[in-house]
Amino acid sequence: EKLAALIASRILDVPDFPKPGIVFKDLMPLFADGAAFTEVIDGIVAHHGRTGFDVVAGIEARGFVIAAAVAYAAGTGVIPVRKAGKLPRATLSATYALEYGEASIEVHADAFTAGQRVLVVDDVLATGGTAEATLGLIERAGGSIAGFSVLLELEFLNARQRLSNRQVHALLKV
Ligand code: IMP
Repeated sequence: EKLAALIASRILDVPDFPKPGIVFKDLMPLFADGAAFTEVIDGIVAHHGRTGFDVVAGIEARGFVIAAAVAYAAGTGVIPVRKAGKLPRATLSATYALEYGEASIEVHADAFTAGQRVLVVDDVLATGGTAEATLGLIERAGGSIAGFSVLLELEFLNARQRLSNRQVHALLKV
């Protein structure tokens, strides 16, 4: 559809980043294009409805850009889900497996009020490990997942299998 084509036209494939053999999808050209960025943000808000969520959570770091814009468009606040060691106060954390080793993400323990409806956003859904950890972490912190949107889903990595109990909204799937 229209938004998918718009996003596809603003993505650059970067071979061998961050490691040999990996083709990195660079969405910076989409963020840099004011008209395209506005349409995409409005598309996310329209999908969930302006009143369908109470707060927006963004996954570090490109998710922050999307989260802040969605939150502003809907008149909500924004909560950062950060890499380990970045948040200044008491946190809850979730550790998840990477191809080699593991990673941890954190939110402030008091980031959400009980039952607060949280829309989670990120740029790219790859293996789904980050998303799975984030959604679980937000629930442990008292939030209720109102939706999860990504601009781009890499379907060949089968994240949906991993997130089988979750609704995933991807504006573009490749
Ligand atoms: P996953 O945990 O394997 O699903 O990886 C998703 C996370 O890694 C997201 O936070 C993305 O921002 C980032 N990521 C993975 N692959 C790419 C890519 O090709 N382009 C941009 N970000 C990516």
